[in-house]
Amino acid sequence: MPDCLFCKIIEGKIPSKKVYEDEKVFAFEDIHPQAPTHILIVPKKHIVGLKEAAAEEAEILGYCQLVAAKLGRERGIENAYRTVYNVGPGAGQSVFHLHLHLIGGRDMKWPPG
Ligand code: AMP
Ligand code: ZN
Repeated sequence: MPDCLFCKIIEGKIPSKKVYEDEKVFAFEDIHPQAPTHILIVPKKHIVGLKEAAAEEAEILGYCQLVAAKLGRERGIENAYRTVYNVGPGAGQSVFHLHLHLIGGRDMKWPPG
């Protein structure tokens, strides 16, 4: 998608602090981290958001979670992290290319704000 911020980051047209990449996903540090670890895991395919995802995208949704678990292990934060999809503007979604937040490395409060 030509005007999509995360498509441009995936293509390297906008710089990012990449932490992981494979044929399906691209993961990078969030520019406004909410915790010591705050990584965005983004499918390379442009999917608008969780509510727009189709049945055939179930695998990539699960795959993003497994990449988050792997990165959480590598960061040594397995006792305190959360994976989050913000869905819709009311929940704080501001970029309309699906992305999984991996947030952790500090005490996590419940319920989240
Ligand atoms: P959301 O609000 O759930 O749509 O998440 C979008 C996230 O993207 C926010 O946490 C932003 O801080 C982050 N973000 C926006 N622009 C950039 C960028 N250029 N590089 C890295 N993270 C970004
Ligand atoms: Zn996109």
